[in-house]
Amino acid sequence: MALTGIEIFKLLPKTNCGDCGVPTCLAFAMNLAAGKAELSACPHVSDEAKETLSEAAAPPILPVTIGTGDKALKIGGETVMFRHEKRFENPAGIALLISDTMADAEVDARLKKSKELIYERVGLLLETNLVALKAESGDAAKFAALAGRVKDNSDANIILMSEKADVLAAGVKACADRKPLLYAATKDNADSVAALAKENDCPTTVKADGLEELAALTEKLAGAGLKNIVIDSASRTVKQALEDQIVIRSAALNKKFRPLGYPTIVFPCEMTDNPMKEAMIASMLMAKYAGIIVLSDFKGESLFPLLVERLNIYTDPQRPLATTEGIYEVGGPAENSPVLITTNFSLTYFLVSGYLESSRVPSWLLVKDTEGLSVMTAWAAGKFSADIIAPFVKKCGITDKVKHQKLIIPGYAAVESGGLEEELPGWEILVGPRDGAHIPGYIKTWQP
Ligand code: SF4
Repeated sequence: MALTGIEIFKLLPKTNCGDCGVPTCLAFAMNLAAGKAELSACPHVSDEAKETLSEAAAPPILPVTIGTGDKALKIGGETVMFRHEKRFENPAGIALLISDTMADAEVDARLKKSKELIYERVGLLLETNLVALKAESGDAAKFAALAGRVKDNSDANIILMSEKADVLAAGVKACADRKPLLYAATKDNADSVAALAKENDCPTTVKADGLEELAALTEKLAGAGLKNIVIDSASRTVKQALEDQIVIRSAALNKKFRPLGYPTIVFPCEMTDNPMKEAMIASMLMAKYAGIIVLSDFKGESLFPLLVERLNIYTDPQRPLATTEGIYEVGGPAENSPVLITTNFSLTYFLVSGYLESSRVPSWLLVKDTEGLSVMTAWAAGKFSADIIAPFVKKCGITDKVKHQKLIIPGYAAVESGGLEEELPGWEILVGPRDGAHIPGYIKTWQP
């Protein structure tokens, strides 16, 4: 059970030195209990107190890492029920199911899909993170061969699925250095799967029928020293799965119930045979707290929306996605190419540069840092006015790249054109369209 602010306070030095950034130990204790401070901010806490306090400092949903290196997937670490309260921390993993009863050609085709279905949006790569290897043959050697094949031919993180400890052990042996997620410890095999996870330092899933049994089993594994735990409430109907997701999250966050304070794994692939329904279930569970979503197949038309949904849910609502300020070249511009300016809200930048690209008119695009605000909002907030744009145009270096002195500003900032002509003597300020979709038509009329 997480500690209260007063319980934490009793363990602090009580010197009120202020080194942690707040004036009193009591204030620091309250912040720690609310998840608003890190224990490491107090340099004076004793080692014994540290051990006890680390539980209070841990997020209500513990973080779990699957895999190694740059591609490792971190899930959990969540602290809020609703994104607008703060933010969701670690994007859910999306896994493609591969069975050991599949032919090698099918396995290879699936690995290829998981590698190639990558999309770029607002400057970010949207991709999946996992393959879930399911032992359906019951043959340990076959399962080990599949794990070895995947290890050799893919850098995706691995989930090993079998409730038979000996089969699971064979799979682990083939890819232990990739730190796969073991699936699953149940009431019948908990001791042997826990031993396997400990021996190979792998994260493990706990699966049980119902939340009470699940909590008892996570306590057992935590008691055995396992920290990297993912949970599966074994519900395979949509209604029950959704209910479990919400109850688990609420128990961990609102009731501080540590035995359910772990990221979850869900299986839309086992809830329907209809691919579109599966995509819809995955979408719902993505919004409602799934840590890992296992899909029966990857298809571009259903995977892409899911990846975009994940991007939207896991961006920080208090920090707009922003592009770096600077000069961007679109289509290899030259000294007589048009110069446009916009703001650094990522979506604005990618829409404008996309429309410019589609016009096939090579252009210079100046992107002004407006703290990630769109043109209209930045202008209204006084961050995209003549006295801010002009110094940027002078300093950014565009005058060394073009022979003309014409600047196209967005239609929504038209009112700044007079001010800009005063601030940029010699420059002609042209007002472009308000809607980015009209840029291609507008830019084709460009004359230096
Ligand atoms: S740094 Fe530690 S001892 Fe000092 S006020 Fe903060 S909590 Fe108290």
